[in-house]
Amino acid sequence: MAGNKIIIAIDGYSSCGKSTIAKQLAARLGYNYIDSGAMYRAITLYFLRNGVNYNNTDEVLAALADINLSFVFNETSQSSDIHLNDEDVSLPIRDMLVSEKVSPVAAIREVRSFAVAQQKRMGRKKGIVMDGRDIGTVVFPDAELKIFMVADPAVRVMRRFKEMYATNPHITIDEVRHNLELRDYIDSTREESPLHRAADAILLDNSSMTRDEQLDKVIGWVKERALSKAVS
Ligand code: C5P
Repeated sequence: MAGNKIIIAIDGYSSCGKSTIAKQLAARLGYNYIDSGAMYRAITLYFLRNGVNYNNTDEVLAALADINLSFVFNETSQSSDIHLNDEDVSLPIRDMLVSEKVSPVAAIREVRSFAVAQQKRMGRKKGIVMDGRDIGTVVFPDAELKIFMVADPAVRVMRRFKEMYATNPHITIDEVRHNLELRDYIDSTREESPLHRAADAILLDNSSMTRDEQLDKVIGWVKERALSKAVS
């Protein structure tokens, strides 16, 4: 499959397990994995730290001009850390404060253009797995494989709770549920590139699948797409 690298776009609601499958795929295929949500989170962190009033377009544009985002491969975790102006912000972007503000920030047109332009550049050489909310619809509308992930809301809440509890033992299940519901609502009803399933995206419900079952299924789809690319 090496000579037929494709773009894999994974979208879906919060905590559906997009990043888990995306990382597994990238490792198996030798592709780059890009967590586009981390970019919106890093921008939000910058806005919070610098008191940027995100209702003011001039302030938003000035702030964006000072933001440099990059992904740096971490040998220990075998995944990429996001750097904001050369600082590794992989941990602080997961704070609840950032989670609470990220959806309104990601709904701003200027913020989206800034992030989407970089995301498109990252896909030029193909061989990339990117997850997010608008990857198959806006960032890579021509991606060879698009997946739209869904999972039972109760399963999603517990997944995110366990993830957050590891670094914040004061977090409650209700706080996590409220945050997921609010983000899903804002992400799917905003004017700019709302979250929705692309017409040609395959639906993947992983509520009761193991990680291995899920990976096998998706690898099957990748093989089909890479093969049809090779013969076309
Ligand atoms: O993927 P994650 O849950 O970390 O994303 C955080 C937030 O970033 C989402 O709730 C959404 O508001 C925003 N986002 C987006 N478009 C993307 C990826 C994430 O608007 N492609």
